[in-house]
Amino acid sequence: MEKILKRFLEYIAFDTQSDAETHTHPSTEKQFRLAEYLRDELLSIGLKDVKLDDRCYVYARIPATAGYENVPVLGLIAHMDTSDAASGANVKPQIIRNWDGSPIPLGTSRIRITPQPHLKGGTIITTDGTTLLGGDDKAGIAIIVTAVEKLLNSTMPHGAVSIAFTPDEEIGEGTDFFDLELFGADYAYTVDGGAAEYLETGTFNAAGAEVICRGISTHPGSAKNLMINAQKIAMEFNSMLPVYEVPEHTAGLEGFYHLTHSSGNVSQAELHYILRDHSSEILEKRKKFMLETADFLNMKYGQGTVSVALKEQYRNMAEIIEKYPFLVDIASKAIRDAGLEPTILQVRGGTDGARLSFMGLPCPNLGYGGYEAHGEREYIHVESMIKVVDIIMNITSYFTSLPDRLHKD
Ligand SMILES: [Zn+2]
Repeated sequence: MEKILKRFLEYIAFDTQSDAETHTHPSTEKQFRLAEYLRDELLSIGLKDVKLDDRCYVYARIPATAGYENVPVLGLIAHMDTSDAASGANVKPQIIRNWDGSPIPLGTSRIRITPQPHLKGGTIITTDGTTLLGGDDKAGIAIIVTAVEKLLNSTMPHGAVSIAFTPDEEIGEGTDFFDLELFGADYAYTVDGGAAEYLETGTFNAAGAEVICRGISTHPGSAKNLMINAQKIAMEFNSMLPVYEVPEHTAGLEGFYHLTHSSGNVSQAELHYILRDHSSEILEKRKKFMLETADFLNMKYGQGTVSVALKEQYRNMAEIIEKYPFLVDIASKAIRDAGLEPTILQVRGGTDGARLSFMGLPCPNLGYGGYEAHGEREYIHVESMIKVVDIIMNITSYFTSLPDRLHKD
């Protein structure tokens, strides 16, 4: 346990927060520091084929055992960046061993968390209440590196295994410069879910919407019948969206409109939304509703007052994964044989795997043993991370019974 824990603590010491506003690749230069560290670590544990490219992607390859070269190549992927929902700088983790089930105070903050009851007796890593933890997805990286090391030191026969650590997943750009050919996997799993028993085979369909409202600014003293306040139009626009279809009132397979950013003054106001739904038809309806809302306000205030720019972000990977049921069967068996009951989920979010699946690399998502990501309440269960290492070893082993990659359709 100490080795995977030590790895994890080393990775979270790097601030790797990504930033949607910089429009550079990677979005933040500091992600390179972790990438360089990982490249060096992979070389030091005995991998020869390791590459860090100039867009901050780390790729590595474990060769197949002699005689197993035709086994389909298994890919394992995790992301290096952390969410911008909370700071990822100067993370000060608390390590609670043999957790007794009582609430855990986070440092001197007023936050207390009570982890899931079934984790009682285990080792819990929390924040001190001032930052996120970065378990999403540095726990995934620690799991993959530990599995690689275990594989290199084992006599278990296996096919080739490709690994990749990507930047900028949290801003939806984790696969923009992913080199599928260099990666060379036939099928892959991201290690970026929640609990160790989770197997995520579907995601949201996702779109972004930028709403621009234009007003007319005048001196307020002489504004009568002249001024149109763009901010008020923006507020009106938002108030016309279904009030319960927001993240804070939805769960399961319910989609939403989420206002992520707003800014403005009298002459112009902007609203940024993300739209999400597991059903692609319902997502299309949401997009249409945004456009119709703009039409209504344009009728009321004049053409050109409100414009909506829609952008597709990612699609529900279930559409692809359904064609490769053995990926779900193998992972389910691997989870069960590691002593857990698999929970197959449609994630309320996206993964690098969603985009990769549509790029031609089918890629469900495994858990990493962490909970409540993207905020100060985030925590990790170390024994779960170790379970996921076992799950990956099992998957690697079961891949040897798949039909040869040369005969793949
Ligand atoms: Zn993640």
